[in-house]
Amino acid sequence: MTVHNTSSALREELARHRAAGRSIGFVPTMGALHAGHASLVRACVAGSDLTVASIFVNPTQFDDRADLESYPVTPREDEWLLKQHGCNLVYRPSLEDVYPQGLDQGGVAGLDFGQLTERMEGAHRPGHFAGVAQVVNRLLTIVQPHTLYLGQKDYQQTAVLRAMIRFLNLEVTTKIVPTVREADGLALSSRNSRLSPDERRAAGSINRQLSAVVGGLLSGWPTRELERMAMEAMQRQSLLQPEYVEVFDGDTLLPYEDGAPVEELVVATAVRVGPVRLIDNRIVP
Ligand code: AMP
Repeated sequence: MTVHNTSSALREELARHRAAGRSIGFVPTMGALHAGHASLVRACVAGSDLTVASIFVNPTQFDDRADLESYPVTPREDEWLLKQHGCNLVYRPSLEDVYPQGLDQGGVAGLDFGQLTERMEGAHRPGHFAGVAQVVNRLLTIVQPHTLYLGQKDYQQTAVLRAMIRFLNLEVTTKIVPTVREADGLALSSRNSRLSPDERRAAGSINRQLSAVVGGLLSGWPTRELERMAMEAMQRQSLLQPEYVEVFDGDTLLPYEDGAPVEELVVATAVRVGPVRLIDNRIVP
């Protein structure tokens, strides 16, 4: 496995692989890697000749400065994990390498995600998706992969990035990898390491509430009622502060109205637990 700190060195090596006809898969990350990231890397190794991962904590997608400043950084462990799972190339750039013209070079010109960013994370984290689109567009320009691997854990992000790829006519296929969870159902997240033992225990009920909503939907309970009950169940726990529980159409990301035809029905939540804000979602089978 080779680690590159500059886009020029990375592109030089990638050009050789491209010339040899190898397919390139790409896994963008912010580091502090865990088994969820490992699962993306494994999917990429299985589906591409060459696996490239990036580690870059992108400041433009953080709406909360304290969250950015306390974001865990574990470079040695990250490299070990990537190597263990068969990654070939790592791009670990400086801020200047990703944004040579400065951070405020703007988002992705002319992109308006409309209803895709009006609710949930888009509503609660102003500027977040503009920053995500900005960095992923930049990384895709540098790596030019055939396939981009994304986690279902960030459901709204996958919708926004797929829309960006369509708008910009980028020649990249996206693959969505299921969420990896702890034994009690808590979705793995780099931010989980900042929870106290009590907060960690309380966080286990986030997935249980999502399961309750999924069960209720399958038995035909009214959607708004289920959302309200899940919110209240979490509000009753002193260590949890839920921001939303929303059942929505996976295509439009608009709230689901009982009985409406949808291809993919999803329930998502964001919950503050101690110093961190966690998100999770479940697709209704
Ligand atoms: P991050 O480092 O948080 O920016 O995440 C990098 C990628 O890993 C994103 O595509 C995430 O959706 C994905 N990811 C994060 N947590 C998990 C998880 N628990 N299971 C699967 N994928 C995940």
